[in-house]
Amino acid sequence: MFRSTNPATGAEIATYPELTAAEVETKVARAAACYRQWRNSAVEERTALLERIAERFDSDRERLARMATDEMGKTLAGARAEVEKCAAGFRHAAQEGAKWIAPQPLPGGSGELHYRPLGPILAVMPWNFPYWQAVRFLSVTILAGNVGLLKHASIVQGCAGLLEEAVTAAGAPAGLFQNLAIRSGSVAGLIADDRIAAVTLTGSEAAGRSVAIEAGKALKKVVLELGGSDPFIVMPSAHLDKAVATAVTARVQNAGQSCVCGKRMIVHADIYDDFAERFTKAMLELPIGDPTEDSIVMGPLSSEEQRNTVLDQLDEAKSSGATLTGGTRLDRPGAWMSAGVLTDVPVDSHLMQEEIFGPVAMLFRAHDIDEAIEIANATPYGLGGAVFTNDAGEQARFVADVESGMLAVNQLFSSIPEAPFGGIKHSGHGRELGPWGAREFMNVKTVLRA
Ligand code: NAP
Repeated sequence: MFRSTNPATGAEIATYPELTAAEVETKVARAAACYRQWRNSAVEERTALLERIAERFDSDRERLARMATDEMGKTLAGARAEVEKCAAGFRHAAQEGAKWIAPQPLPGGSGELHYRPLGPILAVMPWNFPYWQAVRFLSVTILAGNVGLLKHASIVQGCAGLLEEAVTAAGAPAGLFQNLAIRSGSVAGLIADDRIAAVTLTGSEAAGRSVAIEAGKALKKVVLELGGSDPFIVMPSAHLDKAVATAVTARVQNAGQSCVCGKRMIVHADIYDDFAERFTKAMLELPIGDPTEDSIVMGPLSSEEQRNTVLDQLDEAKSSGATLTGGTRLDRPGAWMSAGVLTDVPVDSHLMQEEIFGPVAMLFRAHDIDEAIEIANATPYGLGGAVFTNDAGEQARFVADVESGMLAVNQLFSSIPEAPFGGIKHSGHGRELGPWGAREFMNVKTVLRA
C-alpha cells in the first residue's frame, strides 16, 4: 500500500494499492499491444492528441495543482505554474513536433533518414515536480510513436493517477500511457522484460546508477536526469539587487528541492560581503507557512524523511568546519525547516561531493574568475548553472568553461519546453524535450536508394 502524507500537517491523506505481479503483466501486455498500432499512427493523430492533453491540463489545473501541494508540499502558486508549464510543453510538441521526426534526405541524394519509434518506454520519475518531470518524457514519447509506462515516486501516487487520467480523458488509445503503482524493487524486472524497449530515470545519482546497471545488462538505451549542485556565480559588474533576489528564488523555490537551481553561490571578493549580508538577511526573513496561501514563498519539504536528510547533511557540514546560519528544524507537525546559509565550507569537503536537496545555500568567496570557475567545477555534478556579470568577456568564459549541460546568464535558470534539458558528469546523460528528447528514443534509420 502506498501512503500519501501531507507534509504541511503530517496527516495521512490517501492510500493507493500496489499493483500485483499479474496486474503489472496485464499493463505491460497492453502497452506492447498499443505500441503495435501507435507506431504507425499518423503524426497528425499524435499531435492532435498532444493538443487535447494540453487542454486537459489547462481545464483541470486547480485539481492537479491541489494534489501536488497536498502530496509533496509545494506552494499552490508553484503547483499551478507547474501545471501551466505542462500544458505549454504538450502544446509545443503538438505545434512543432512533426518536423522534428520528419524523414530527412541524405546528402547527394543517396537516400533518407527515417526516425522510427522504439517501443514501450519505462519512465522512473521523482516527486519534486510530479507532473513536469513526467511530461518532459511523455510529450515527446507520444510524438515519437512510442508508448509510456510510468513508475512514479512512492509519495506522489495521487499525482501519478491524475497524469494517467488526463491522458486517457484526452482520448489516448488504451495502453498509450499507464501508471504502474509499483515499488522501486520491481524496476529491474521490467527493464529486463523484452517488451520494454528503453528506460529513462529522473532522480538521484544512486537510483540512476542502479537503473543504468540494469539497462546495461539488458543492452537497452537509458536516459538519466540526475542530481545537481549548480553554481550561481556573481561578479562585480552584476546588478547586485537582481543577483541577490534571483539567488534567493533559486535556492528556495520548491523548498530547495529542484535539481536545477543555484545551490552554491560563488561571489567575487569585491562584492562578497555586501552580497552575503543581503542574501543571508533575505533567506532568514523568508515567509514560510501554509503552502496554499498566496503570501507564502516556502512551505514544508516533501516529507519528514527528506527534511531529516537535509538536517543530517547540515550537522555533517558543521562538524567539517562550516558555519550554518538558519537552516533549523521548525517545531510543528510535518516536514518543516527554515532556510539557511552555509559559509566556510571547505572546497575539498564531502559536502562538495553532495547535493543539498533543501533550502540551504553554500556561499563561497572567489578572488578572480579563474577561482570562481574552479569552485564551480569542484563537484561531480554538471546539470545547470547561472552567472551574473555584465562583462561580455566574462560571459563568454563562463559559457565555455563552467562544466554543465545548461547555463543562464543574468537570470534564473529554469527549464523551458523549447530547449533541451539534461546534464553532464554525474548529473546524467541524454537530453529531454524538443527534437533532442524525441530522438533519444527513436531509431535513426538509414535508408539508401538506388
Ligand atoms: P530518488 O530517490 O532517486 O527517486 C526517484 C525515482 O526513482 C522514484 O520513483 C524512486 O522510487 C525510484 N528509485 C529509487 N531508487 C531506485 C532504484 N534503486 N531502482 C529503481 N528505481 C529507484 O529521487 P527523489 O528523492 O525522488 O528525487 C530527488 C532527486 O532527483 C535529487 O537528486 C534531484 O536532483 C533529482 N532530480 C533530477 C532531475 C533532473 O532532471 N536532472 C529532476 C528532478 C530531480 P521510490 O519513490 O519508490 O523510492
